[in-house]
Amino acid sequence: MMAYSPYELKALKFFNQTANYAEEELGVVWFDWDRHKTSNTCCVYRELFIKGSCQLPDHKGEWPSLYLKNTDNGIEPPYNTFGCTCCKEGNMSIYDFIQKVKKCSYEEAVKRFSEFCEVFIILPEDD
Ligand SMILES: [Zn+2]
Repeated sequence: MMAYSPYELKALKFFNQTANYAEEELGVVWFDWDRHKTSNTCCVYRELFIKGSCQLPDHKGEWPSLYLKNTDNGIEPPYNTFGCTCCKEGNMSIYDFIQKVKKCSYEEAVKRFSEFCEVFIILPEDD
């Protein structure tokens, strides 16, 4: 099994796993996701943006207002982030999103997503 640190699972390479996790484990319905187009993300660098239904606990608006994107702003690493235009949430990592939907800890969110990706996670050591 490959070993990763949590931030590496937020990278473009895991775009499809992130979208799959949101669909299978969090109940998001994606509307315009072409998984073939986004499957080769380790070599294709371009803006990715897909829309779906929001699963945040306080969400009240019409769907599809949730999005998952990976955009390179030239400043930060181009991480996969979730946002909801209705909930006025943005810049949520997969871990932030899992924590909000499942009401769990960061560690639990990392555990859930890394198990889903079938990778071994190296967490920074607690002292
Ligand atoms: Zn929402």
